[in-house]
Amino acid sequence: MGKIIEYVKATWFGFITLPVLLVIIQFFVRELYLMQYGIIITLYKGHPIAINYIVRWLLLIDKEALQGSNLAAVIITWILGWIFVSDWVRDKKAIASGIFLTYIAYILYLSLYHGYPVTLYFPESFYQLIASLIFATVATQLSTKRRRIGFFERLEKVGIKVPEKYKVSINVPTKCPACGAILYSNPYYCWKCGEAIEDKLATVGGS
Ligand SMILES: [Zn+2]
Repeated sequence: MGKIIEYVKATWFGFITLPVLLVIIQFFVRELYLMQYGIIITLYKGHPIAINYIVRWLLLIDKEALQGSNLAAVIITWILGWIFVSDWVRDKKAIASGIFLTYIAYILYLSLYHGYPVTLYFPESFYQLIASLIFATVATQLSTKRRRIGFFERLEKVGIKVPEKYKVSINVPTKCPACGAILYSNPYYCWKCGEAIEDKLATVGGS
């Protein structure tokens, strides 16, 4: 069951992340004036960008998306996007399936929802698929080895020190160690007998 959720999570995150990321990349290329180095992404043409147009780029079925910097931007979007997703979903198989399912979901979105006739070209329409499969597999391999940084560690990195006793997690409901009353939180005092129990509750390990 938990497995299925990972697959759904990977596909959903990928589906949402890629269009957003492509727009962000296009924005930065523009803001950094990279056109002076010959890097021009022609996704934005002065009017709002339709989602189905972005998706056509992501699938590399739009001829324009296959040109120069546009093609590079789409491939980088897929690679970066799936590296991000593989940091959230640390399951190699879920990520690999997520890449395929997202690709298929985009095709279905265009053909069923927009009635757009999708024609895939080989190998052009598969560059991004292959590139992201390779990079995401390597990224998941690396990220499963790397320890996940906890919430409190993140806080400490930005200089917020949380007292140790607040990091302790307690399984609730639990019982008062003095009188046995059921406790639904980790209070200072037992609601029934008034015993100071804060430091005596059974813990389930730190953060
Ligand atoms: Zn008590």
